[in-house]
Amino acid sequence: MGDEPKEPTSFNPREWKTPASTSPGAPTERAAAPDEAPRATPDPTTTSFNPKSWSSGGGTPPTGPTAPPPKKGRGMMIGAAALVGVAVVGGGVWFATRGPSTAPASPTSPGAESPADAPVSEEQRRALVVRQPGDILGALTSVGVPQDEAGPAAGAAVAKLVKKDSDLTLIMMVKPVSGGNHLVNLDARYEDGAGVVVTPSSSGFTAEATAANLKTVIKDVRGEMDAYSFYSSAVAQHLTDSLISPFAQALTFDFDFQREIHAGDVFEAAFENRVNSRGETVGVGRLLYVSLETKEKSRALYWFQPPGGEGGWFDGNGRSTVRSLMRTPVEGARISSTFGMREHPVLGFMKMHKGVDFAAPTGTPIYAAGDGVVQNAEFKDLNGNYVKILHDSGWKTIYLHMSAFGPGIAGGVRVRQGQQIGAIGTTGRSTGPHLHYELHVNDEPVDPMSVPMENGKALAGPALQAFFKERDRIDVLRRAQTG
Ligand SMILES: [Zn+2]
Repeated sequence: MGDEPKEPTSFNPREWKTPASTSPGAPTERAAAPDEAPRATPDPTTTSFNPKSWSSGGGTPPTGPTAPPPKKGRGMMIGAAALVGVAVVGGGVWFATRGPSTAPASPTSPGAESPADAPVSEEQRRALVVRQPGDILGALTSVGVPQDEAGPAAGAAVAKLVKKDSDLTLIMMVKPVSGGNHLVNLDARYEDGAGVVVTPSSSGFTAEATAANLKTVIKDVRGEMDAYSFYSSAVAQHLTDSLISPFAQALTFDFDFQREIHAGDVFEAAFENRVNSRGETVGVGRLLYVSLETKEKSRALYWFQPPGGEGGWFDGNGRSTVRSLMRTPVEGARISSTFGMREHPVLGFMKMHKGVDFAAPTGTPIYAAGDGVVQNAEFKDLNGNYVKILHDSGWKTIYLHMSAFGPGIAGGVRVRQGQQIGAIGTTGRSTGPHLHYELHVNDEPVDPMSVPMENGKALAGPALQAFFKERDRIDVLRRAQTG
């Protein structure tokens, strides 16, 4: 089970073109995306810094980005993503701008760092990413700065650095001298640009704080769906991993990504990033606009936060797209059995199937289809572990055969739409991992896939006027991008 709340999504963007596959990505799986370049995480088992595991410019880091191993049907794509990540690690962690040396320093032999054929007096640039200010000393000594310089320099830096939950990029200008590297300048910055610049002074080293310096940059990407998946289509347009799921979620009430999206369909996303002075994206971008155009329909949505209200997606007229219930309450959903009469897979005779079955691997998150109150969350014979939710509309949804309940899910607990209430399993009378999902209207089971959902609320009055202003602002920014 995930340790963070999962956003509602009715499909796995990496898998939707391979419905025959029974191995949708595990919910925690993430490929390395270009601007989520892995930090120089020296060793996943410790948060402290281990100079031995830094990568060299051309090498492969021993721990590397956390790209999952290639799986059937998408090995190429994941492989490519992983390569990008590796390249960024190499470039970001270690490079020299002058001189031929790109070899990493050996922390145990500082003096051996400079290759014999490098001009002895030339300044060299060393870049390293570390976890925290406490790692600066080790970084300095690892590039050959002698202890009697590294100690005071690191001390000066640490004294001026505020601890932040972000890695530090160190740019160290050093000059080879006999027995090591003299420190000419140390620039230590967090992602947002805040940090220190340390220079030698008569009294040792002086540190000067630098302020955060972030700019907001709007980007607009537009592309066509390829023949493989929405994920690969989006990555091809440099839509980052962190924006791909929100993009799909925004449109999940309007499109069935499993069945309604085809190669050649056109998508567009406008988003804003915060960028530091080195041009690097800081934090996670924010989607402003999403659109999708298929042969059958098109939809364009704007993100808007009404004054005093919660932010959400609205169409161009200020109508929210959120419906009372999600269309499919499980990620990576593949319908394995529809609503209606069928031959029962266990009992063998014709029987009314009162719900829809979604096949997915054990452990795949199951979401509350709408806001409501949990009436039951318990094990019961044929149902296995099951949850029943009474929704605000009076409708009920029922989820059977779970392997486990979501965090805090119990009778009487209020849940919101998209909150994880459990995980796919095969408890009770079941032939394999799946969710049996029922929707009851007036206490009668109905086909959840055919019930027309109530339309979203429309903005009105001053909120609508504010929305129009934001919509127009976003449209101007989009046009500026697309030329
Ligand atoms: Zn069923």
